[in-house]
Amino acid sequence: MSRIALPKKRPVLLVVSLFLVLGFLGTTIVSYQVSRNAIRDAILTQELPLTSDTVYSEILKDLVRPVFVASMMASDTFLRDWTLDGERNQDRMTRYLSEVMAKYGAFTSFFVSEKSRNYYHPSGVLKRVLDGEPRDAWYFRVRDMPTPYEINVDVDMANHDLLTIFINYRVLDYGGHYLGAAGVGLTVESVRRAITQYQKRFDRNISFVDKDGRILLSANGAHGGPTNIKLVPGLRDQARKILSTQNGSYEYHEGGKTHLLNVRFVPELNWYLFVEKTEDEALAGIRHTLYVNLAVCLAVSLLVVFITGMALTRYQDRLEEMATTDKLTGLLNRQALDALFPQAVNLSRRIGSPLSVIIGDIDHFKDVNDCRGHLVGDAVLRRVAAILRESLRASDTVCRWGGEEFLMILRDCDEDAGMGLAEKLRRAVEADAKLLELTPGGVTASFGVGMLNAEESGESLVARADKALYAAKMCGRNQVRAATKKTEQDAPVC
Ligand code: GH3
Ligand code: MG
Ligand code: MG
Repeated sequence: MSRIALPKKRPVLLVVSLFLVLGFLGTTIVSYQVSRNAIRDAILTQELPLTSDTVYSEILKDLVRPVFVASMMASDTFLRDWTLDGERNQDRMTRYLSEVMAKYGAFTSFFVSEKSRNYYHPSGVLKRVLDGEPRDAWYFRVRDMPTPYEINVDVDMANHDLLTIFINYRVLDYGGHYLGAAGVGLTVESVRRAITQYQKRFDRNISFVDKDGRILLSANGAHGGPTNIKLVPGLRDQARKILSTQNGSYEYHEGGKTHLLNVRFVPELNWYLFVEKTEDEALAGIRHTLYVNLAVCLAVSLLVVFITGMALTRYQDRLEEMATTDKLTGLLNRQALDALFPQAVNLSRRIGSPLSVIIGDIDHFKDVNDCRGHLVGDAVLRRVAAILRESLRASDTVCRWGGEEFLMILRDCDEDAGMGLAEKLRRAVEADAKLLELTPGGVTASFGVGMLNAEESGESLVARADKALYAAKMCGRNQVRAATKKTEQDAPVC
């Protein structure tokens, strides 16, 4: 059966799916972004600065002891007296420095006399410091500085130029005159070990970078990575800004990951402390939640689309039924016929099989209504409709064409067969027990039968069948008439 044109289901479902998916995706992604920003803010403004503070204070703590030892050396009476005494018996100084080194676990210890410019070391006199020699510049800086000591990171000549943190203390005589510089040195390895510990404890990357951007210390040591922050792809562009600012929070992308970075300048070492964390690790939790949310959204969307589809299908079927079915008799209505009839005509022409129509009309039906009332009239209509439906083949179509008129399309049926069928219907109506019950004397109907001619339109066939019906009425009703080939004004021949 052809379907009556109703709003299409697919666009509606598409719009519903689109709104659902957009709505769900929108809220999920927005909430993910909000959480992500909150986590990033927390990392940048709290976590990393806190770690940085902790590492900074731990490093200062590590430096307190050597500073204290150096300060003791600077005020040691032996050291001062021995120097004022003309630096005689250098072994005594060497032994003194060895003892300081051993007792306090320093990596190295030293004293440089202003008078002799000798550089005393636990192993003896190392050299003489010279003005204008770049390697000795530190000594002349210490000599002229206003503060009692400095912390200087430099290579240690006495130890194969190993990077060392020196505490350089100014030594003054009892009258406050400058005598030289004394102090101890720590290997940066100890700081590296400390960094490794902090890194393990805080699960962040910690490194020290000098003013030129060189990565001096990181927990990984010589791990083969970039040696300067200017060589780190994501940091390259920001390196200048980082190295010209004291403290700051940064973000960069490298190796497909987003790194969150806190930088703090450590004036004691003249280094920058870098504490960083990859955003991906921090976001793993909420990313998992995002995937779960998306899966739930997808499942809910599919369910809603499925349920909507089912509801629409039922609704559409119902609408179609309502649009094509006559309410009283349950037969197809005229609207359905308008869609079906041209199809039947086309098919008949294409496959070359005969097509006939029967138009039936209840005789004197007005009297049934008038004498028995409309309810009985309705019952008669229902019963006649049922007789017609039951008497036709499944391939035939019967519809309520007007008030008490019915039109039947008979596929693969010539006029003779149509006439035979119409006669069968006429008799069935006339003899029906139920109709006899409803109206005394029963009900009769007249029928006009026509077969589709070559070249003839569907409308012309119906007009001819209608004319045959009219002839049947004119000739006394309760009879079957065939349509003549000419549809013109022929007077009915009874
Ligand atoms: P004829 O033998 O010439 O066909 O006479 P008739 O009385 O059957 O024909 P007419 O067209 O004068 O009357 C048809 C009547 O059918 C008029 C109308 O009120 C009635 N009718 C149409 N539809 C319905 C319906 O749904 N229910 C009922 N009860 N009556 C209906
Ligand atoms: Mg009528
Ligand atoms: Mg009638």
